[in-house]
Amino acid sequence: MKRRTLLLAAPALALAGALPARAAGGRQPFTLGVASGEPAPNGVVLWTRLAPDPLRGGGMPDEPVPVDWVIAEDERLRRPVRSGRVMALPEEAHSIHLELDGLQPDRWYFYRFTTMGEASPVGRTRTAPAPGTTSRSLNIAVASCQQYEQGFFAAHRHIADSSPDLVAFLGDYIYEASWGRNLVRSHGGPTARTLEDYRNRYALYRADADLQAAHAACPWLVTWDDHEVSNDYGGEIGERERGEPFLARRAAAYQAFWEHMPLPRSAKPQGPNARIFRRAAFGDLAEFHVLDDRQYRDPHACQLAGRGGAARVTEAECGALMDPARSLLGAEQEAWLTEGLRRGRGRWTLILQQTRMARLGGGQGAPVYWTDGWDGYQPARRRLLETLAERRPEQGTPLVLGGDIHAFLAAELRPDFDRPETPSVAVEFVATSVTSQSNARYAAQYPRDPHIAFGDASRRGWLALRLTPEAALAEMRALADVTDASTPAETLRRFAVEAGQPRLRPG
Ligand code: FE
Ligand code: CA
Repeated sequence: MKRRTLLLAAPALALAGALPARAAGGRQPFTLGVASGEPAPNGVVLWTRLAPDPLRGGGMPDEPVPVDWVIAEDERLRRPVRSGRVMALPEEAHSIHLELDGLQPDRWYFYRFTTMGEASPVGRTRTAPAPGTTSRSLNIAVASCQQYEQGFFAAHRHIADSSPDLVAFLGDYIYEASWGRNLVRSHGGPTARTLEDYRNRYALYRADADLQAAHAACPWLVTWDDHEVSNDYGGEIGERERGEPFLARRAAAYQAFWEHMPLPRSAKPQGPNARIFRRAAFGDLAEFHVLDDRQYRDPHACQLAGRGGAARVTEAECGALMDPARSLLGAEQEAWLTEGLRRGRGRWTLILQQTRMARLGGGQGAPVYWTDGWDGYQPARRRLLETLAERRPEQGTPLVLGGDIHAFLAAELRPDFDRPETPSVAVEFVATSVTSQSNARYAAQYPRDPHIAFGDASRRGWLALRLTPEAALAEMRALADVTDASTPAETLRRFAVEAGQPRLRPG
């Protein structure tokens, strides 16, 4: 109902006085491509942003601009199914978040925007199957962490070529700051702090042709991690700022994130707050719980004197690590997730989140834990895994998907990692980074934890996950050389999980 109201309201606004505008320098406005997201059985969110001068604020006049859209059954748009007009608003950086409904379930569609005498590229998207139907397969590309300066987005070109049904992007879509070795290109600007900075950063990334190709290939489900704002932030605390100054920066960063993602209007920030945790389903084959583990978390345990962010600590030197009152998701989201998991249904339960969930730090000697991820919130992790342990098999086999660590990882998750003889309650796959460089220190630890079957921090790429009613097949797709824009990809490892049995098997 809301969606229809929005669509109907747009032409009225146009009649109320907004005139077609001229772009700066007469350049075409669709420099950032098109995108879609949030596939539902009868709809999808279509996205674009008008930005004839993308790296300098966009280049649009400070006024609303009408944009026409069409969605069709065929790539040449000869069989349109719906069309209309929406307004691109200056206070939203002239981005469009068109919440379409009235589509058929389990279908592919093609869409295009036009404005100011120019047409966008044609994007391809799809709807989810209807509830109660179990499709034969679902192909998901899982990606995260794409520092622009450290490599080319070849992974996205390969993702587009592989024609997945869905891309799950798990955070660090942009990096606010420059860092790393052997850079292949430049941000061309300072560390992002203001709304203008963040908009220009997203526009730089989004001007990349390979990234545009992956967005135009299928719908995405996105969440964020820390670098959409700043390194290792948690709640209201950044590494070097906290309270009001940090919240002002967070508000700017969240606004720019929303403006550049195919997200619904319900995810639009109100000041420094934005609700992006949500659920989606692909018929009865898969249910997705998309989490936000940045915005609501308790402060990192045992922060270093005079700064925020994460640290490396042992249990003996940091009592807060094992404090059950601390939460990574925050009380509201944690209750929402628990409730959703308890009434879950379908073959596969996918938990889409930012960071590694498997414990790291076992082996000889006292474990040293990195406090930024779930290792810094161990009782909260145990609560989540115990919830999964209590479910019946027909409520879905849990798969946890993660990013952040710039490494491939495959692990079995148990409420008590010190008891490897107890049943695994979920399988975790972490996709390596699209480009971002890795930390070899963690890679050396992977073989020491018995629940971690495989870890590799040396390669960039993505994870190709194929779900069927019987099994999940995960392929770790690795690039030969991320500093070569035309680099090929190969499969590094394959793992399989049988439905009803959350254990890792060779694929
Ligand atoms: Fe990252
Ligand atoms: Ca991160």
